[in-house]
Amino acid sequence: MSDKTHFGFSEIPFSEKAERVASIFRNVASKYDLMNDLMSFGLHRAWKHFTLSQSGVREGHRVLDVAGGTGDLSLGFLKRVGDTGQVVLSDINEKMLQRGRERLLNKGFLTNVRFVQADAEALPFHDAEFDCVSIAFGLRNVTHKEKALQSIYRVLKPGGKFLLLEFSKPVLSFLEKLYDKYSFSVIPRLGEWICKDRASYQYLVESIRMHPDQSTLKNMMEQAGFENVSWHNLSGGIVALHTGFRYA
Ligand code: SAM
Repeated sequence: MSDKTHFGFSEIPFSEKAERVASIFRNVASKYDLMNDLMSFGLHRAWKHFTLSQSGVREGHRVLDVAGGTGDLSLGFLKRVGDTGQVVLSDINEKMLQRGRERLLNKGFLTNVRFVQADAEALPFHDAEFDCVSIAFGLRNVTHKEKALQSIYRVLKPGGKFLLLEFSKPVLSFLEKLYDKYSFSVIPRLGEWICKDRASYQYLVESIRMHPDQSTLKNMMEQAGFENVSWHNLSGGIVALHTGFRYA
């Protein structure tokens, strides 16, 4: 097996990826939400809204938002779980988690939310703790994706649902070309303009191209143990929501 992994279009030793990713999210944390709105023309809100609508989360549930960053999904889950449920927002990066904490606390969610700094590859939770686990735009950044999927499977209760929202492969070739042109020419420039950081956004667009397509990701989820795995393309497959269950 090669001792190298992708970092965008570059190949780097496995041991370096986590720190390179960490440095990106430290740099962009303060402008992360603004950049999301600008880059996606606000569409990321609709993708996340759809994800929440598919979650099946209800009053009293315990939900884990892995790589939850500034907490968009956590916020939606908190509105659903009510006073008797709990949401755990976890992220490997202290700056992103801090933004998430400030945001959720400012919105008045104080008691039924926890913030845990954790690597998706080794989640520090008991087996079968959660009714639902999500990871949105996070898996792409994880060094060993298989380990993260296994770790998520472990902490999900039997009967629990996993939601994986991520950039994917556009289904129409004209859309793919248009999207490629837009992402490679506009997004790094936006990053330079707003965050004074072109390189991080160059990584973002490259990492999207290197991420497994819809059916490869479905296979990876099945390998990790998930059952009844399916996906729903959003915005023509620019993004896909994969869902799967733990039954046993
Ligand atoms: N889920 C949020 C959203 O949809 O807006 C944030 C997504 S942001 C693009 C990716 C997040 O993944 C960052 O907050 C980053 O710190 C986190 N991340 C990267 N590698 C990780 C890992 N190995 N374990 C947990 N989180 C990780």
